[in-house]
Amino acid sequence: MRATIIHKPGDIRIEDVPEPKILRPTDAIIRTAATCVCGSDLWDYRGINPVDEPHPMGHEYVGVVEEVGGEVTSVKPGQFVVGSFATSDNTCPNCRNGYQSSCVHREFMSTCQAEYIRVPTADGTLVATPDQPADDLIPSLLTLSDVMGTGWYAAVAAEVQPGSTVVVVGDGAVGLSGVIAAKELGAERVIAMSRHASRQKLATEFGATDIVTERGDEGIARVKELTGGIGADSVLECVGTQESMLQALRSTRPGGNVGFVGVPHGVAIDGQELFFSHVGLRGGPAPVRRFLPDLIDRVLDGRIDPGKVFDLTLPLDEVAEGYRAMDERRAIKALLRP
Ligand SMILES: [Zn+2]
Repeated sequence: MRATIIHKPGDIRIEDVPEPKILRPTDAIIRTAATCVCGSDLWDYRGINPVDEPHPMGHEYVGVVEEVGGEVTSVKPGQFVVGSFATSDNTCPNCRNGYQSSCVHREFMSTCQAEYIRVPTADGTLVATPDQPADDLIPSLLTLSDVMGTGWYAAVAAEVQPGSTVVVVGDGAVGLSGVIAAKELGAERVIAMSRHASRQKLATEFGATDIVTERGDEGIARVKELTGGIGADSVLECVGTQESMLQALRSTRPGGNVGFVGVPHGVAIDGQELFFSHVGLRGGPAPVRRFLPDLIDRVLDGRIDPGKVFDLTLPLDEVAEGYRAMDERRAIKALLRP
């Protein structure tokens, strides 16, 4: 089968590799309907994460179950499924507490930009849709595998409530999904921080009420201006840099909360600043599995359309162009069709 392999930073290739097989009785094999390139894949592509040897790429996927191991009971061949980028048994204490991305049997999916995918602990990782979904819903269902589930978690972690004022730091696919989540959870005001016209437009379509184009201290000052001088109730940090984290912390009101889902790279937080800020902080890899059934319903009902974050669709064979376009910020997010 064809699969995406990174050889070194900037060097993405499609190669023929053996098809995955059932290794454990709890595995499933799915035929990929769609997969995509994640902002976090760019950490490898840009060499910020070391690439010591060639390895497969991709952790977002939807597809049709091809084969299941002997102990799999909740999904069966022929069903269309959505799964999280982190696998989970959905039965251990961490899963029962709603933190499936800290499952004691967690594995991070890492081979999904390919024609077939092996999914461990399939019963606790995959959720089947009631029927084969219409083709135009597939992009939105694919976002649930990571970006939309992550944006949703950011909003939940930042404790967005009906009537809240919310700031979203980051206008990538996760930030834009965070705007959808904030609106769905009842935020009255959603301030999106973005300096790109096309992303501002999408943020507004998704429910942003205000756009802040300034960054750093100026961005913080602008948010304060928009929030009566005190800051926002909830801030979604969807980037993962020192600048974005400080922007998030300093844009939050005392007693407010930051949900941080950008994987931190080189972020240091001063304990005294955090202490005196009175800001609550919760983040981590999103327990997407917790939200999948609800988010699948919202997509199938037509209530949310997060698939709009895909502004580039390519055949899997052209995956290298998907990485290039995202690296050069010509595309927000690239969808790949095997
Ligand atoms: Zn678990």
